[in-house]
Amino acid sequence: MKSKLLVAVAAMGVSLFALQAGAQDKGMVGIAMPTKSSARWIDDGNNMVKALQEAGYETDLQYAEDDIPNQLSQIENMIVKGVDVLVIASIDGTTLSNALENAAAADIPVIAYDRLINGTENVSYYATFDNFQVGVLQATSLVDGMKERFPDTKPWNVELFGGSPDDNNAFFFYNGAMSVLQPLIDDGSIVIGSGQMGMETVGTLRWDPAVAQSRMDNILSANYTDKQVNGVLSPYDGLSIGILSSLKGVGYGSGDMPMPIVTGQDAEVQSVKSILADEQYSSIFKDTRELARVTVGMVDAVLSGSEPEINDTETYNNGVKVVPSYLLEPVEVDKSNIEEVLIGSGYYTEDQIK
Ligand code: BGC
Repeated sequence: MKSKLLVAVAAMGVSLFALQAGAQDKGMVGIAMPTKSSARWIDDGNNMVKALQEAGYETDLQYAEDDIPNQLSQIENMIVKGVDVLVIASIDGTTLSNALENAAAADIPVIAYDRLINGTENVSYYATFDNFQVGVLQATSLVDGMKERFPDTKPWNVELFGGSPDDNNAFFFYNGAMSVLQPLIDDGSIVIGSGQMGMETVGTLRWDPAVAQSRMDNILSANYTDKQVNGVLSPYDGLSIGILSSLKGVGYGSGDMPMPIVTGQDAEVQSVKSILADEQYSSIFKDTRELARVTVGMVDAVLSGSEPEINDTETYNNGVKVVPSYLLEPVEVDKSNIEEVLIGSGYYTEDQIK
C-alpha cells in the first residue's frame, strides 16, 4: 500500500518530504496575544506555538502591545490570510465584535484565550483559569500573610488594587478577593485606609504598573502619614512591582516600617525573585502549558466538529451567550512552595529564578 502510494506520489511530482509535511498539515491557527510587556504572555505565545505545532498545525502569532487598533488589524489580517481558527487573548474584550463578524462570514471559528470576548455570538469556546478562585487565593494569602507578619496589629490597614476594567477577568479577580475580604471589613478586622473600594475606583487601566505606582504614591501621602499600611491586594505581578517601588520609596521594608503583605498573579520571574527576597509576599501560578493543551483540544474540536473538554457551561456569559468554558485551577505560590510548585513542575529552572 505504502509503495503504491509512493509511486503515485512520485508520479505526481510530490516529494516524500512534502507528503510527510502534508500529513501533519492540519491548518493554520492565528494567535492574537495582547502584549509582550509581561512575561506571562510571552510564555503563553511560546507554549501555544509549541503545542499547536506538535499537534500538526501551522501558526501565526501576533502581539499587539496593548494597542486595541493594532490588535484589530492583526486579527483582520489573519482573516484575510485565511487562517482556519482564531485564538484570541483580547486587550479589550468588548471591541472585537465587527472583526469577529468578518471571521464568522469567512467560517473561521474563534476561541477566547484566557480573557472572555464580550458582546458577540461569534466565539465558540473559552479556555481559562478559575478566575474567581484566583481572587479568593489572592485575598486568602493576603490575610494569612498579615496574620503571620502583623499578629498583634488590629485592625489591619489594607489597600485594594483592581485590574483593567476592560478585561472581564479583572472583575472576577476583584469579586473573588472581596468574597474573602468583605466579611473582615464588616467585622472591623480590616480597614481600607484610603476608603477606596469598588472596581470603578480601584481598577488599573491596561494593567499598567506606572498607574498603580502613582496611585499608591498618592494613597500613601494622603492617608498614611500617621499610620502604616499592612497589606495591599494586587491582582497582577506587574502592578505589584509598581506598588512595591512606591512602598520602598517612603521607607517600607526597613527600620520600623515592615513591608506590607503584597499579593500578585502570574508568578513571573521578576516577582518570584522578589518573593524569594522577602519583598512581594505571594503570587498566583497559572500553568500556561496546561492552558495551551486545553486550547489545542478546542482547536481540534472546532475543526473536526467534535466536542472539546468543557467543565463550565454557566459562569461566562458574554452578554450575548454563555460561552462553554474550560477552567483550570490556579495555585497560590509563596516562599514556602516556590521550589515545589515552580521548579518541581519544570515551569522554571533553578537558574532562572536565582
Ligand atoms: C490574566 C492575568 C494577568 C492579567 C494582566 C489577565 O487577563 O488572566 O493572568 O495577570 O491579565 O496581564
